[in-house]
Amino acid sequence: MDHFLYKNGVLHAEDVAVPEIAAAVGTPFYVYSTATLTRHYQVFEDALKGMPHVICYAMKANSNMAVLRLMAGLGAGMDVVSGGEFRRAIAAGVPGEKIVFSGVGKTREEMRLALENGIRQFNVESEPEMRVLSEVAQSMGVRAPIAIRVNPDVDAKTHAKIATGRSENKFGIPISRAREVYAEAAALPGIDVVGIDVHIGSQLVDLEPYRAAFTLVAELTRALRSDGHDIRRLDLGGGLGIPYQQNSNQAPPLPFDYGEVIRSTVGDLGCEIEIEPGRLIAGNAGILVSSVIYRKNGEGRDFLILDAAMNDLIRPAMYDAWHDIVPVTEPAAGVVPAEIDIVGPVCESGDTFAKARPMPPVAEGEMVAFRSAGAYGAVMSSEYNSRPMIPEVLVSGDQFAVVRARPTYEEMIERDTVPEWITENRG
Ligand SMILES: *Cc1c(COP(=O)(O)O)cnc(C)c1O
Repeated sequence: MDHFLYKNGVLHAEDVAVPEIAAAVGTPFYVYSTATLTRHYQVFEDALKGMPHVICYAMKANSNMAVLRLMAGLGAGMDVVSGGEFRRAIAAGVPGEKIVFSGVGKTREEMRLALENGIRQFNVESEPEMRVLSEVAQSMGVRAPIAIRVNPDVDAKTHAKIATGRSENKFGIPISRAREVYAEAAALPGIDVVGIDVHIGSQLVDLEPYRAAFTLVAELTRALRSDGHDIRRLDLGGGLGIPYQQNSNQAPPLPFDYGEVIRSTVGDLGCEIEIEPGRLIAGNAGILVSSVIYRKNGEGRDFLILDAAMNDLIRPAMYDAWHDIVPVTEPAAGVVPAEIDIVGPVCESGDTFAKARPMPPVAEGEMVAFRSAGAYGAVMSSEYNSRPMIPEVLVSGDQFAVVRARPTYEEMIERDTVPEWITENRG
């Protein structure tokens, strides 16, 4: 359930009519719901009730400062994957002791930044990284708390570009070599081993891969403890899928059932549990609103050409992702949908949001909304084709605020600088 519903025949974001926001900021734009974000954080809290835990919101899904502040206010920790994200977490008021740092390419500079801020834990993804981290920590006179990301070689049964838990992926170390790597970690002077980390992929629609991975993590916990390591935290990653298609029988697992899988696999180990949900918190908390520029009749197919494009929402082009696309004006009862291709204006065939999509009639100048666009939407956008970044809006009840403004064309152009040798040589 989310908070984007038709009221009096018009799509609303909570209690705000979408056309009201469009009149204020122009299309296209993203709009997020405070109530949905809050509820999704809370369902994880409920799912893990009774187990000591920290929910580290994976901010790469949506790192707008307003969203981060909201999460921080609810008590969330953060999972970050870059120095930039680390700085956002700090700026949002999240203390270092609630931040975990993931990613395969942490630099010395990023390590120092995190250590200076009293980071909770590094999720180390390789031996070279671990050795460098030990050096950096030692040079600062501290020890770096780490979990080692193990790769359980489990098939997450998701899109290849977002599966991370197979042996062919670049993430983590093979679980078969874990004891050896933990032994090296324990011997490094700048390292403090605190736990184990695993993250097998994103948009998982089945709990079995989790059960398989967490069972292996439980076995590893016992083995490492018998080797003398103090394993006191288990970071189980994120990845729980969301329903992108309302009228389908695909129903991703509920966070509650995910919590039960955690309880039954690792719940008796006395470890503090960390999870890193991103998509499930932000995905269905946002929509992308766009206007129809043209309806074009092609040969054998018709096109709806929108003012939003792949640079604003890249998921369809990058992951073959489906987004429900609905008219902002509620279609009259009994209207018959017709198949149409929905595309953006960018000069790439890949700038196609949907092919042969059954749509109620939408006229030029009318608006449509892409549902489930709150995660991996705005954060993955670019200014390709010199299309300025689109605004982000947050609603709460009957109020809304622009939480990132659209830059002017001047601001976009003036970000570039032209060297003198070009201006001087001008004929
Ligand atoms: C991307 C990522 C997440 C979040 O994944 P979601 O599918 O958005 O829940 C969590 N942890 C790590 C290490 C990630 O890379």
